[in-house]
Amino acid sequence: MKHKEIEVAEGICSECQRPTRFKIEDFGIGSYEYWGARGVHHDYQWTSECCDAPPVDNTLNITIHEPDYDAILEARRERTS
Ligand SMILES: [Zn+2]
Repeated sequence: MKHKEIEVAEGICSECQRPTRFKIEDFGIGSYEYWGARGVHHDYQWTSECCDAPPVDNTLNITIHEPDYDAILEARRERTS
């Protein structure tokens, strides 16, 4: 069975400074062809559900369950590269 990864996580929104949920979105250009070489470009980023903004460090020490954002993105990139 395939390991289920975390795709939604809690964090602090860099736009409104409030705790919210974040999801991974792909900002890549998708399928492309460059001088005959085909590929699919992915650019995964965490974005908040409220403002589509990236998370910031939880400097207010609000009680949330923060994941290791970078580790999750890294795992995602490795699987799709
Ligand atoms: Zn926000």
